[in-house]
Amino acid sequence: MTSYPILPAGVSATAFGKALDEFRSILGAGHVLAEPERLTAYRKVYVAVSEDAHAPSAALLPSTVPEIQQILAVCTRYKVPVWTISTGRNIGMGSATAATRGQVILDLKRMNRIIEVDAELGTALIEPGVTYLDLKNYLEEHRLPFWVDAPSPGPIVSPIGNTLERGHGYTTNQDHVYAFSGMEVVLANGDVLRTGMGPLPHCKSWQAFRSGYGPYIDGLFTQSNYGIVTKMGIWLTPVQEGARSFVVYYDRHEDLVPAVDTFRQLRLAGIISVSGSILDGLTLLGFGQPRSSFWSGSGAIPRAELDALLRQKGLPQWRVGGVVYGDEEETAIKLRKIRRAFEASRPREILIEDSSNVRPSWGEGDLASATGQLSLDAFRILNFIGGGGVLFHMPVSAMKGRYVQELCTISENVLRRHGFDYLSMNWCSDRDMHQTTGIFFDRSDPAQLQAAHACYHALMQETSAAGFGNYRVSTHYMDEAAELFGPELRGFLRSIKRAVDPAGILAPGKSGIHL
Ligand code: ADP
Repeated sequence: MTSYPILPAGVSATAFGKALDEFRSILGAGHVLAEPERLTAYRKVYVAVSEDAHAPSAALLPSTVPEIQQILAVCTRYKVPVWTISTGRNIGMGSATAATRGQVILDLKRMNRIIEVDAELGTALIEPGVTYLDLKNYLEEHRLPFWVDAPSPGPIVSPIGNTLERGHGYTTNQDHVYAFSGMEVVLANGDVLRTGMGPLPHCKSWQAFRSGYGPYIDGLFTQSNYGIVTKMGIWLTPVQEGARSFVVYYDRHEDLVPAVDTFRQLRLAGIISVSGSILDGLTLLGFGQPRSSFWSGSGAIPRAELDALLRQKGLPQWRVGGVVYGDEEETAIKLRKIRRAFEASRPREILIEDSSNVRPSWGEGDLASATGQLSLDAFRILNFIGGGGVLFHMPVSAMKGRYVQELCTISENVLRRHGFDYLSMNWCSDRDMHQTTGIFFDRSDPAQLQAAHACYHALMQETSAAGFGNYRVSTHYMDEAAELFGPELRGFLRSIKRAVDPAGILAPGKSGIHL
C-alpha cells in the first residue's frame, strides 16, 4: 500500500489511495498529482505561515465539466475535500493553497477556452483557465475594439478567479463583481447550474442581463464554497475615443483629507472617468528601488527621517492619480474642471501634460492601465525587502477624507509597532476607498515571519474594531475574518453550506464557512 504524506482529515490511507485510483481513471495518471515533488507549486504560500499548515494532499487537473462531475462523485464517496483554483496566483493572499491542510487542489488551468466573444455587446464567455492576457491577445487577433479590465497581475491571472475574489481593474468595468453576467456552476451533487438568464433554453441575453429572475444568486458563488464555477460571461470595455491622465502632488501629511474629498466629488459627478489612486511618498520610492538602497537601519523608518528622505528626493507626501476619457475637446474640459477643483485643496503641483511619465506606472488612475495595457510592474514592490514574503491586508473605508486618514493612521501605527514600513496604497472608487497594505518580509528569517503574522492579525483586529472591514483575506486568516463579521452572517452562510454541500467536500474553510 502506498502511504501519502498528507491525508485529508478523517480519510484513511486506504480510502485516499482508492480515491486517487478513481481520479486516475477519470483524468489519466498524468493529471493526478500526488507525489510531493509534483506538488511543490501548490505548497507555496508566500504569506507569514509555514507551508506545512496549508499543504495539499494532491492536485487534479480536469479539462471538462463531465470530468469535474465525476471527480465530485468520488469526493463524496470518500469524503475527500477539493479546493478549486482557476490560475492559482492569488498573490499575497495564500496563492494556490487551501484554507486548511490536506485538501485536494482542483486546478482548472486546462479549462482555458474562450468560448464566445460578442463583438456587438462587448462580452466574452470564458473558462477559468483563460488569463487576461489570453483574452487581450484574442481581442487583438480578431481586431475587436475592446480592452480587458485587468488587475495588477493581469497577464498571469484569470478573469474568473479575480472576479470570484472581488478583484478590481482600471477601466470602466473596474469593480469586477459587477462586471460579469452569467455563470455556469457545478454543484457538489454534480448538477450544472446556470445563473442569471442562463437556465432559459436558447437564451439570448445570458451575458447581457445579470439579474435573471428570482433571488439574485451569483454573489453566493463569489468568495464561497458553494460551487465550482466553470464558465462566466465577462464584460469588456469599449476602446475609448481618447484618454488623458493627471497627477496631483501634496506636501503635507494632512493633505490626504482634502485630496480624498476632492477626488470623490469629481468622481461622483462623472468628471473623473475611472477609479484613481492616492499613494504616499514611500510607495513611490519603494516601487523604484529596494529599501536597502536608501535605508540601512532595522525596523520601520522613523517618521521624521522618512519625511526628510522624501524632501531630499523631491517626493511628495501624497500623489493622486486619475484618468479622464473622451476626445480632445471633452478631456480638455474635464481636465480644466479637475485642475480648478484640486487647486482649491492647495496641492504642491498639478501635472497634466506629462502625467504619463510618472512612476510607478500601473494601477488605478494610471493612463496605461486605464487603456487596457497589461504589465507586471506592480510586483517590483516585492524587491522592497526581498526574501519572498508578502501578505496583503485589504480593508475598505467609505470615500471620506477623515475616514481614510483614520484608517491610514491605524494601519501605519500597527505596522510600525511590528517593525514594518507602511506603504500607503489607496484605491479611490466613487463611494468607497479600498486599500492594499503590504507587509513585505524575508521568509527565511523566523523573527520576521512571526512579526508579519502578528502584524496581519493586529491589522485585521484594529481596523475592524474601528469600522474598517476587510473585503478579501489570505487563506490562512479566513476564520478570523469571518468571526469579525459576527455570528448571524456566519450562521446563515453555514446553513446554506449544509443545504448545498451536505458532505462538506467543497473547499472547507473558504471565507470561514465550514459545515
Ligand atoms: P487568481 O489566479 O486569478 O489570483 P485563483 O485561481 O488563485 O485566482 O483563485 C482565487 C480563489 O478564488 C481560490 O483560492 C478559490 O477560493 C476561488 N476560486 C478560483 N477559481 C474558482 C472557481 N472556478 N470556482 C470556485 N472558486 C474559485
